[in-house]
Amino acid sequence: MAQHRIVKGISVAPGLALGPAHVVHARPHVVPTWNVPEEDLAREVDRLREAIDQAAEELRRRQKAVAAQVGERDAGIFALHRTILTDPATQRDVEATIRDQRINAEAAVQALIDRVTKRLAGTAAEGMRGWSADFSDPWRAVLDVLMQHDRESIVQGDEQVILAAAELTPQVVTYLARERILAVVTEAGGRFSHGAVLARSFGIPCVVGLSNLLSRLEQGLRVLVDGDAGTVQLRPDQDDVDQFLARLERRKTREKKLGLHASLEPVTTDGHRFAVLVNVESLRDLDTFPLQNCDGVGLLRTEFLYMERQQFPSEEEQYRLYRRVLERLAGRPVTLRTLDIGNDKQLPYFKTPREANPALGWRGLRIAIEWQDLLRVQLRAALRASAHGDLRILLPMVTSIEEVRDVHRIFDEVRRSLVDGGYDVASDVPVGIMVEVPSTLFVLPSLLAEVDYVSVGTNDLVQYLLAVDRDNPLVARLYDVHHPAVLQALARVAEAARAAGKPASVCGEMAGDYATALLLLGLGYDAVSVVPMLLPEVKYAVRETACAEARETAQLALRETTSEGVRSVLAKSRQRLHERQVAEFAAEPHKGEPR
Ligand code: PEP
Ligand code: MG
Repeated sequence: MAQHRIVKGISVAPGLALGPAHVVHARPHVVPTWNVPEEDLAREVDRLREAIDQAAEELRRRQKAVAAQVGERDAGIFALHRTILTDPATQRDVEATIRDQRINAEAAVQALIDRVTKRLAGTAAEGMRGWSADFSDPWRAVLDVLMQHDRESIVQGDEQVILAAAELTPQVVTYLARERILAVVTEAGGRFSHGAVLARSFGIPCVVGLSNLLSRLEQGLRVLVDGDAGTVQLRPDQDDVDQFLARLERRKTREKKLGLHASLEPVTTDGHRFAVLVNVESLRDLDTFPLQNCDGVGLLRTEFLYMERQQFPSEEEQYRLYRRVLERLAGRPVTLRTLDIGNDKQLPYFKTPREANPALGWRGLRIAIEWQDLLRVQLRAALRASAHGDLRILLPMVTSIEEVRDVHRIFDEVRRSLVDGGYDVASDVPVGIMVEVPSTLFVLPSLLAEVDYVSVGTNDLVQYLLAVDRDNPLVARLYDVHHPAVLQALARVAEAARAAGKPASVCGEMAGDYATALLLLGLGYDAVSVVPMLLPEVKYAVRETACAEARETAQLALRETTSEGVRSVLAKSRQRLHERQVAEFAAEPHKGEPR
């Protein structure tokens, strides 16, 4: 393999691809600047406004397309970009540049982009650079309109291409229809950026951080993308292509074999059953993934159902949706989490006050207890649907025992009124809590006495335990799911649940990493709930491991005093499973990393 033609970057989404490069937004290096006479300034400002409208309209079109393909949540970034674009203060700023400097709209927009990029370039944080891209990208689209760059003019027909761009933005990922994109490769772009999130949910191999890529590419140049290793190879020769095809074949074999395991029971080699459930965010997930292989829905994030609407869904509407999920799961449990809005999950039609620390503010159960009508409507709909399957209710953001008692009182009232009204309601609807606020760790026995089960929300628990905002790229490196304190907290929950004789599971993202899932099994959890895409991998890991071994690993990990130590313990399980897969499937080596 010709090493000098390999550009090394950072893997954002796995997978392999081979095809012609298409350079997106190959922007001219020079944006023309000219003087605008006084009498033409108003017309120049109009030209700017029209371009903004046109770019905003294009964003609306993409938002709709992405919403239809992957869901409203991922499409939300285009709404954000529209907001950036239509921000009156920024628009006034650009218009003032036109008037004050008497220059054309293109030059004024470029000046804005330069100002923002410069302001954010000083920071070393990966995510801040992602923010810079999020800000500049919609304004670059305005430049394209002003300079009349037609995005479709270069790519013709329905050819499949590898998109190459300066930055990984949602615009790049949605530049063409999904089926025409083989991979996305960019010079810059954060792993946590919205573009990265989109690439992953589309399942497009993606590599970022490829320095000087664009200067080495031409339109149509054949490239080979390795999303697992995070590399791009320019002009692969016949040997490279043969190797690529062989690897592709091995990958397919692995996926097929894992798929076979996915349909088998998640029982360890020494006969211990560990339930593997899935997290469902949107009803679209029900049709996208084969859910027949899961043990149920461990987390139904109902807030996304609310987010996909223009107003609060009615009781009837919610009843129909919940019933549909229960019927689809055909008797397997469906854990419906009550509305968990606030912080980064906002409803467009429910304006909450601006808060200095929204993560510590009005969110989750705190809102539900204050705005009880919301909770009552949701519980009525859920309890009516309970007659059609195995429903469980899960409460988010629980901080104290009083909150649980408040909800129980409301729950009992709602149930009584439904029964009195002649509705059919399941006789047993377990109510559990999310363990995601550290206070709950210290009152677990008393909380457990009042609930039927617990589910650990590690996404939030880690942020509150380590005092690291889960959405702040500046501290992303400190958001460490393998911090020994996190492990101690997880062990404490499993132990308290065992002592109380109540089931415990983990539904935070970290459970989707198969080595971590084994650790949770070893700590004594009964179940994990993971994104559907990762179900086969987790089930395979469970089926290939002895529970006794998982327990031993957990004990070793608990003894570690640093994250590095915990990770090195996990690396051993990872390596063992990796070798097993290579031997069993003759498979493409698995390079799973903690998520
Ligand atoms: C969590 O906090 O781990 C969790 C599962 O909930 P969310 O990510 O929706 O806050
Ligand atoms: Mg949470």
